[in-house]
Amino acid sequence: MATYRLSQRLARENRSGRKGQEIPGGDREADRQAHSPPPRVQAESLSQFLPSTNVQYAWDSTALGDLKKCAYYYYMIHIEGYTTRDENIHLRFGTEVHQALHDYELSRKGGADHDHAVHATLKKLLTRIFDWEPDVTTKAYNTKNKTTLVRSVIWYLDRFKDDPAETYTIADGRPAIEVSFKWELDYGPRGSSVPYMLCGHLDRIVHYPRGSDDLFVMDRKSTSMNLGSYYFQQFEPNNQMTLYTLSSQIVVHSPVKGVIIDAMQIKADQTLFERRITYRTQEQLDEWLVDLRYWLAQADSYAEANYWPRNDTACTMYGGCKLRDICSKSPSARARFLEGNFIKLPKEERWNPLKTR
Ligand code: SF4
Repeated sequence: MATYRLSQRLARENRSGRKGQEIPGGDREADRQAHSPPPRVQAESLSQFLPSTNVQYAWDSTALGDLKKCAYYYYMIHIEGYTTRDENIHLRFGTEVHQALHDYELSRKGGADHDHAVHATLKKLLTRIFDWEPDVTTKAYNTKNKTTLVRSVIWYLDRFKDDPAETYTIADGRPAIEVSFKWELDYGPRGSSVPYMLCGHLDRIVHYPRGSDDLFVMDRKSTSMNLGSYYFQQFEPNNQMTLYTLSSQIVVHSPVKGVIIDAMQIKADQTLFERRITYRTQEQLDEWLVDLRYWLAQADSYAEANYWPRNDTACTMYGGCKLRDICSKSPSARARFLEGNFIKLPKEERWNPLKTR
């Protein structure tokens, strides 16, 4: 795993796509930053918030996507730290799939043939999940459990034994799998000298098709949804995929055309696979970065006002917001429902873009 940090200048150039095209106010902000004292907050402190505030300076696609969807949702998940038992299962399942495919790739890069690499991968997977006890009373358990996990990994590896996508090799010789990125913008929260930071993890950067110069991020998804056009439409436009395309260009220092969505549909009795590409142009990336400035300023304002308004037009989107049962109750009754149906995580276990994998 590698961590990439981008100089302010490179971030500015990449943001605009070419020198001279700046986000409104960018130069003023850059000048202000250049004359400011060095940032006081270090990534090692592992808080994504400025000290003693709810002002978030380190963002990833999850936090940003949640903010864009509904400020109150963002507040409840990222500031208050609420989660569901289902969510824990989805998270663990996804993490194990990623780790297993990562292990397989490393094994193959290390010279193992397919069968030996599968064997080594499964041995590690079974060891890791030996004492995993997903909650059998949850809805998620029907499709995401130890059996479906192991089956999905085996079927995936067999299906893509002769993968038409070829892992990109980073300049230092390492394969571009599970690549973590962190890069700074040239502006930060109001009144702070700390710049905003964009963080995330790229599952894989690939040449596609194998042997070509065309580069893509590959992002693995596990879902219970049917893998038809409706499923893939959600990635165009899409906050996460645009950030990933942008960030991968910083990692490889070359144009990246977009993201290959490598999706698994997990059913109780089978796992299905489908890959589709979502492309991004440089103009789309530039536009996303301009929008980002306004979204981050909005988050800053919510934190300053200590109020995160509900977007009640988003409650039925994305298969239905998981907080619907809370928001639909009268305010005075919500605490009881929260207590019964949600878990409030301790600070160190909450979603944090600065955590490394
Ligand atoms: S239920 Fe609606 S208002 Fe409540 S957090 Fe979800 S999207 Fe926001």
